[in-house]
Amino acid sequence: MTALTYFFVFFLGCCVGSFLNVCIYRLPRRMSLIWPGSHCPHCNEPIAWYDNLPVLSWLWLRGLCRRCGVLISPRYVVVELLTGGVFVWIYAMHVAAPPGAALSNLPGLGAYVVLASALIASSFVDVERMVIPDEITVGGMYVGPVLCAIFPQIIVRQPLGGGPTGWILRATGGAGSEHLAGLTASVLGMAAGALAIYAAGVFGKALFRKEAMGFGDVKLMGMVGAFIGWWGVLLAFFVGCVFGAVVGIMLLIGRRDTHIPFGPYLAAGTLTVMLYKQAVFRALWDFPNVIQSWFS
Ligand SMILES: [Zn+2]
Repeated sequence: MTALTYFFVFFLGCCVGSFLNVCIYRLPRRMSLIWPGSHCPHCNEPIAWYDNLPVLSWLWLRGLCRRCGVLISPRYVVVELLTGGVFVWIYAMHVAAPPGAALSNLPGLGAYVVLASALIASSFVDVERMVIPDEITVGGMYVGPVLCAIFPQIIVRQPLGGGPTGWILRATGGAGSEHLAGLTASVLGMAAGALAIYAAGVFGKALFRKEAMGFGDVKLMGMVGAFIGWWGVLLAFFVGCVFGAVVGIMLLIGRRDTHIPFGPYLAAGTLTVMLYKQAVFRALWDFPNVIQSWFS
């Protein structure tokens, strides 16, 4: 049963990944997502449904178009497998949550899966085209607050902490106040994410005298904050910077002059925080003690 559930979640992720591939190709080219149907980018031959199955068709045709034999980018399979894997990972962390919390937070699972999909699509477009489509990020900045207002459990922690949302919930008290708290937490997160990276961009520009971050990144982190709240998004930004620094140093050692946009690092930082928020937070909290123990 469990194995079957995991397989179903993986399959679902691969199908979503297949749709993300369409978004990654078409959104930056200003093409419609639904019309026309999938076709070979080289010979324009429409692709039949049996040649368009996630992962399987690409492997079966060994990555070649059935008609003209041109190589179809392995990116299609990578995105499908990645999305399937991330869906399974999120699901696994979700069911590993304290018993009782798992089922009642089904909207939380849905919201995380939506955010993860948006991050995967944004990252691949950012790598290929150096832009992040507004359709994804600005869209997410609308979807996030609406979801959090309807299902506050996505973003409002129980029991309530001492943060702004807890304060609002206690102050307003009455029926339905949890929806207001959810909306507030989402908008706060959006503002925190966008402001943090905007400030970092201004600071970076003054320091290095070149554009460090684009406005696409600002909107990306606005979307992230709308789903995971203000301290989640600040943590995600920090982890993303650490990833960026590690890869940057590795590229420097390898003397490879490749410029990678910042979007994928932010996405990786966000996924890490989505999956391991508590662990990341605890590690940061303990970090000064660890350093101290080295010197004592
Ligand atoms: Zn073809």
